[in-house]
Amino acid sequence: MIKIAVYGKGGIGKSTTISNLSVALSKKGLKVMQIGCDPKADSTTNLHNGSEINTVLDLVREKKDDFELDEMVVEGYNKILCVEAGGPTPGMGCAGRGIIAALEKLEQKGAYETYKPDVVFYDVLGDVVCGGFSMPMRAGYADKIFIITSGEYMAIHAAANIATAIDNFKDRGYASLGGVILNKRNVKNEEEKVNEFIENIDSKLVGTLDRDEIVVVAEEDKKTVLEAFPDSLMAKEYEVLADNLLKACGYEVSEGNLKRLNNCNIKSNNKEDTNSCKKEEAKC
Ligand code: ADP
Ligand code: SF4
Ligand code: MG
Repeated sequence: MIKIAVYGKGGIGKSTTISNLSVALSKKGLKVMQIGCDPKADSTTNLHNGSEINTVLDLVREKKDDFELDEMVVEGYNKILCVEAGGPTPGMGCAGRGIIAALEKLEQKGAYETYKPDVVFYDVLGDVVCGGFSMPMRAGYADKIFIITSGEYMAIHAAANIATAIDNFKDRGYASLGGVILNKRNVKNEEEKVNEFIENIDSKLVGTLDRDEIVVVAEEDKKTVLEAFPDSLMAKEYEVLADNLLKACGYEVSEGNLKRLNNCNIKSNNKEDTNSCKKEEAKC
């Protein structure tokens, strides 16, 4: 199992991008779980045609601990497992607390052991990287973090804060930065600005997504691009990005299964992976 957290400013395209990545990987035969860690609770909307699903915080508020795993994990398009952490009552409570409660509940109720996903995506709002919003970075949750940004000033500003948080936590065995995704807004000198940011944080670009109206058209139909327009150029871009993301985590897909790549210099939080990596290394 590989756990990937994607952080970025609100509205930058995290949920749209991750939902398309989830579909791309599920189409390759992988079991994917997508966990929305944004109080907006709309991460997985396009994976279940816009239908309302229970958020973990709502379940905890209404039923305390008296609910089943399948009430908070809902199967969406192509059997993708959808979870929404949810948020507090507006104006009251802590949004980060919702994420902590959701991740703890998933663990407590054995979500990972029961569903055995190959890939888990955490879709995390990166406007603030406080205790709650940094939870998915902590040991035992994500293995790798990817930051999504455009060339807009505020998006790069949020991305820089996220990179600083990752750097501050690195000595505690938290997840490491896997790279940056550019989701274009077509601002002036966009690629130069993002490349300069990437150089400053000593990271790498794992993929570029064009700005394409087709994304919004699919969204109006409450679908991902891969579902609504599987043969489009945009669908291809998401598929390429999905491969790049796995590669940056040290994996590829072979016959519907995750396979560790042979170059074993990528650190993993996962003991099993580290062992199989060492075995591969011995072969090289
Ligand atoms: P976030 O999850 O970061 O808050 P969303 O995924 O909800 O952001 O995206 C915000 C809006 O931007 C949505 O309406 C979405 O359709 C649109 N969008 C995202 N990526 C693209 C793209 N590459 N081209 C065109 N529109 C996009
Ligand atoms: Fe909660 Fe974070 Fe807001 Fe503090 S800054 S109240 S931890 S969401
Ligand atoms: Mg979102």
